[in-house]
Amino acid sequence: MPDLIHHLDAVRQRIALAARGAGRDPRSVELLAVSKTFPAEDVRAAHAAGQRAFGENYVQEAVTKIEALADLRADLEWHFIGPLQSNKSKPVAENFDWVHSVDRLKIAERLSAQRPDGLPPLNVCLQVNASGEASKSGVAPGEALELARAVAALPRLRLRGLMSIPEPAGDIETQRAPHRLLHALFEELRAEGLELDTLSMGMSGDLEAAVIEGATIVRIGTAIFGARDYPN
Ligand SMILES: *Cc1c(COP(=O)(O)O)cnc(C)c1O
Repeated sequence: MPDLIHHLDAVRQRIALAARGAGRDPRSVELLAVSKTFPAEDVRAAHAAGQRAFGENYVQEAVTKIEALADLRADLEWHFIGPLQSNKSKPVAENFDWVHSVDRLKIAERLSAQRPDGLPPLNVCLQVNASGEASKSGVAPGEALELARAVAALPRLRLRGLMSIPEPAGDIETQRAPHRLLHALFEELRAEGLELDTLSMGMSGDLEAAVIEGATIVRIGTAIFGARDYPN
């Protein structure tokens, strides 16, 4: 746990350094701590160190964790960032504050229909497959506008922006290219009248590149919690 606090601090410093280097206010970049595969106690420790937003990929694991941390619920923000199947949309609509991985209308319609009335609208990002990405998920850039318009019209969702998971790359210039593309698409959609404020991009290995290219949320797992025991 002392490691975790130290790592959290180091990540905050990386974000601040990259933001200042890019002439951005560090507070314009939100840190999403990706706690998938790590126990609820780690989330509790990160929360005690001031972290509020947590990302999860696996529905059942996440719901169990959210329930174990019910005493902190009002002070936590839970983001679903993994691939989402239709038959798992209900617990996501009922338990999360955000979903970053919406990539087709059918899923968005289910999330909207299943979002409980007593909760605020579910914040969503469209996952975009900008350039031959590792994951097969994601809407093609050329189809993003049409999907964005349809999702923005759903009553119980609030479309916030775009997310992507680029192929890992070693050098910062290569890392920046897909982030730059996503930002350009984000500006195109805004020019079409969509009120977007969120660019979810950047992970442990490329957070600097993402911040330079305008990320407003970086999703960091390994650099905070350590290496995961099982892949992904
Ligand atoms: C696991 C995961 C992350 C965190 O990746 P790290 O490299 O561990 O920082 C971020 N985004 C998504 C969508 C993930 O699945």
